[in-house]
Amino acid sequence: MRVLVLGGTTEGRALASTCAAVPGLEVISSLAGRTSAPLLPAGEVRIGGFGGVDGLVAYLRAESVDAVVDATHPFAATITGNAAAASSLAGVPLLVLRRPGWAERPGDVWHRVATLPAAAAALPALGERVFLTTGRQGLAAFAGVDACWFLSRSVQAPVAPVPRRLEVLLDRGPFTAEGERALLARHRIDVLVTKDSGGSAAKLDAARERGIPVVMVDRPPLPRSVTVAATVEAAAEWLRRGSAAACTSG
Ligand code: NAP
Repeated sequence: MRVLVLGGTTEGRALASTCAAVPGLEVISSLAGRTSAPLLPAGEVRIGGFGGVDGLVAYLRAESVDAVVDATHPFAATITGNAAAASSLAGVPLLVLRRPGWAERPGDVWHRVATLPAAAAALPALGERVFLTTGRQGLAAFAGVDACWFLSRSVQAPVAPVPRRLEVLLDRGPFTAEGERALLARHRIDVLVTKDSGGSAAKLDAARERGIPVVMVDRPPLPRSVTVAATVEAAAEWLRRGSAAACTSG
């Protein structure tokens, strides 16, 4: 069974590694090609966009793909929408692998917003020294917020437009609560902005401990009627079952 894993996440890499040990599963991982030195999944990897829904349909057919797992980041809404449309058009089963979002805990001071521009609008009332962890592509939304100073952390350097008062920290996780605590203290951060990505909560733990408010950007909605798995193991099990069924019917 040939499986296309749309990746660019820790979960995508973990799924590719897990599937490499499953007899009868052949995985092709796909990356968008946004970072110049990506962490590569095990096995076959292709890099670059497909060319929208039509391009993805053509790819699924040309490569005889039997199943698609969308393991992209919860905020990569375009590729997730394209995967849902293309899988349906090509008649290929799709599973969306999405880690759960974060849940507010006692001591947290969260301000939930729907979009990055809404986060930018909320900031001046909440703090002056901002730790921005929404990725380099989202920096433009904060470009007009001159009342705040920003520390932005991303894997690759951002491109203009960016906030006027900006320090860029190039780094890639995983991060520890101890490291995050030290970072918040060193830069005298008084407000944190993050997408509700889920996964490691080190920065949220550190913000709670220091009594720092968090602007939490909500996830975009999933396409309707997609099947969702919350863990790599559940996604691997879905593939194992599909592979077993394919062997039986084949
Ligand atoms: P996006 O806005 O949803 O997608 C934009 C376009 O990029 C898609 O239409 C597709 O181009 C291409 N693309 C995206 N993911 C792809 C993949 N895995 N393989 C092949 N093409 C892909 O995506 P994004 O938010 O820019 O994210 C790009 C990648 O970075 C994703 O793989 C995602 O998992 C990863 N990532 C995103 C975030 C985030 O916050 N958005 C954070 C961490 C990692 P075509 O239409 O030409 O096919």
